[in-house]
Amino acid sequence: MLLKQTNGVLFLRCNCGNEYNHSLKTGQRLKFKTEFNQFQNIPANPCPNCGAVEVFNMNIEDEELNLEDIDEINMPLKEVNQRHYVLEIIRDLKL
Ligand SMILES: [Zn+2]
Repeated sequence: MLLKQTNGVLFLRCNCGNEYNHSLKTGQRLKFKTEFNQFQNIPANPCPNCGAVEVFNMNIEDEELNLEDIDEINMPLKEVNQRHYVLEIIRDLKL
C-alpha cells in the first residue's frame, strides 16, 4: 500500500504492517514495452521485514474520479489516495 509520495520517495505500508520507503532513481523514466503496448510496472524495494515486493501499475487511466464515481464503485479512501499518488508518479516519470 502506497501511503504517500513526495519528491520521488514512496512511503509504503506492507501487508505485514511494516512501513518503509522506496526512492525512485534519479532520472528514472517509464519504459514503454511495445510487445505489451504498456508501460513497464515498477516494483518497490522488498519489505525489509518480510521480503514482500509491491508492484505499482503504471498503466492506470489518468482520469479524475469524482465523488459520485467513488461512491458508486465503493472505493475505500485509502485506495483513492493510493491511486492519486500513483498517478503523480506516472506523471513525474513521463516528463
Ligand atoms: Zn512486509
